[in-house]
Amino acid sequence: MSNCLFCRIAAGKVPAYKVYENDRVSAFLDINPFAVGHVLIIPRTHVSRIEDLSVLDAEALFKALHRLVKPIRMGVGADTALIGVNDGPGSSQEVPHVHIHVIPRSPGDGGSIIQSAIHVRKLHSEKMNVIADKIRRELSLSVNP
Ligand code: AMP
Ligand code: ZN
Repeated sequence: MSNCLFCRIAAGKVPAYKVYENDRVSAFLDINPFAVGHVLIIPRTHVSRIEDLSVLDAEALFKALHRLVKPIRMGVGADTALIGVNDGPGSSQEVPHVHIHVIPRSPGDGGSIIQSAIHVRKLHSEKMNVIADKIRRELSLSVNP
């Protein structure tokens, strides 16, 4: 998409601190990092939600994550990483082009767990079963891409 910032970065039309690229994905430093070495991994083809990725791009994205996570950590001397996706405007996604955040973490860095983004109280097993049933039903009704 010509007016999408991340499409323009992938196409080399907007400068970025790229760390990796292949024919399907691009990875570059987040301009406003949550930690030193905060990297975004994107598909080069524009989609705004994970569910809209082609299977090939979904595979390529996770493969790139698998390839990059250790070099990112080692590059900045971090012990672990927080890996996350804001998937859609309701999740506070700021740039509507799918991207995986890789945020290096180390003990004592003052950061928090990914689940701190939102939290519900613990649910009873009856309610948990109803929820799992609903998701399984939606899965059975949806097309396997
Ligand atoms: P999200 O809230 O998941 O959509 O995150 C979007 C991320 O893109 C934010 O962490 C921004 O700091 C980052 N970002 C915005 N513009 C740029 C840019 N030109 N280069 C690199 N990262 C950017
Ligand atoms: Zn885009």
